[in-house]
Amino acid sequence: MTHHSQTALNLVREQSPERPVALVRRAPVTVAAQWFQSHFKGEIFYAVKANPSAWVIETLRDAGVRAFDVASINEVKLVKALSPEARLAFMHPVKSRRAIAEAYYDFGVRTFSLDTQEELAKILDSTGGAKDLNLIVRLATSGEGANLPLTNKFGAQVYEAPALLLAARQATQDKMGISFHVGSQCMRPTAYAAAMSAASRSLVRAGVLADIVDVGGGFPSIYPGMVPPALSEYMDVIDRAFEDMKVHEATELWAEPGRSLVAESTSILTRVDLRKGDALYLNDGAYGNLFDATHAKWPFPVKLHRADAGGEVSSELKPFRFYGPTCDSIDHMPGPFWLPADVVEGDYIEIGMLGAYGVAMATGFNGYGESDTVFLDEAPMASLFGLGPRHISLPRSETLEDNKIVRFSRPKGGKKGRRRRG
Ligand SMILES: *Cc1c(COP(=O)(O)O)cnc(C)c1O
Repeated sequence: MTHHSQTALNLVREQSPERPVALVRRAPVTVAAQWFQSHFKGEIFYAVKANPSAWVIETLRDAGVRAFDVASINEVKLVKALSPEARLAFMHPVKSRRAIAEAYYDFGVRTFSLDTQEELAKILDSTGGAKDLNLIVRLATSGEGANLPLTNKFGAQVYEAPALLLAARQATQDKMGISFHVGSQCMRPTAYAAAMSAASRSLVRAGVLADIVDVGGGFPSIYPGMVPPALSEYMDVIDRAFEDMKVHEATELWAEPGRSLVAESTSILTRVDLRKGDALYLNDGAYGNLFDATHAKWPFPVKLHRADAGGEVSSELKPFRFYGPTCDSIDHMPGPFWLPADVVEGDYIEIGMLGAYGVAMATGFNGYGESDTVFLDEAPMASLFGLGPRHISLPRSETLEDNKIVRFSRPKGGKKGRRRRG
């Protein structure tokens, strides 16, 4: 279901939504896509898993993004349906034979990643020994500097990479590439340089040249207490590291940003169904749109919207924790989330910066997890692309903007993780 309503507060006052609502802004996605296209000196492949919503794919397509990183045959079908011209890279290092064949024969996918000899054999087998493949060898990285390291599951180790690079080089008449993922929400630009120089050493030891250097995803967004260096620093570091790599003149540079293209776009509007001291029981949680708030335990920014138009909201802020609606005790978000001290049942809480790994993660467990989508023109709660509230005029009296700024600076003071019964 999709409605149009100007602000989150209007939506709360006019409709008192029963289900959680994804409050979606298109502009941050457009702006982020344009920023990456003008600052990254290569091709951008959007990592679809971060947010596979149709509006995201369409907005990116309309902003000029032509390439997509997909990880399943369903993602292949999704992108092809919305953007038939799109160039797809199947970047999951472990794929079923049928998914490889279907991607290759039915959808024209030519780019596949791998991190083992076995997967290489599988790809060649499933495509009838095709010679027109772009084969991308994924290397393991240390995960240093990332908030969500992705080091254990995927990636060839240093000792096995040269043989794999050589095998991939010999297996295709088209392009051979090298990739890695530094880990999600990577706070250190130098992590890219370290991974690129490790990639370069593996290439030298293999005695081959790469046609593609794919620096993966991991570009950060901004969350309270997690303010990364400017994205331009990441671009500068990657530029310099690319110059230092042993590559040829025509070697292509690729990136696969997920989070940083979409995180700012969406906040989740939830309702307080019960307050028990400092614990707020919400109608959305771990099995809905708040997986990361639960499992990564990040203190996402929050904003209170009181349905009662006459209701004064306390200016004193207190730390709260959240419980989701399911009966599973894992469904708990420690926060702390700083909210007006007098928050009560029936209040709505907008949780910001959930455009990445938010709606993408929802399940139907326990009969919860479904939400509606509403398109808004409001600014994101924070922005690395200059879209801060200061740059977009909002109806000031209705946004509790001051609370938000306080919340953004407060969690730095070491209160993180402390529990208090209110
Ligand atoms: C998840 C993923 C990405 C996107 O990562 P972000 O941290 O969201 O930028 C890119 N490439 C691959 C292979 C991935 O698995």
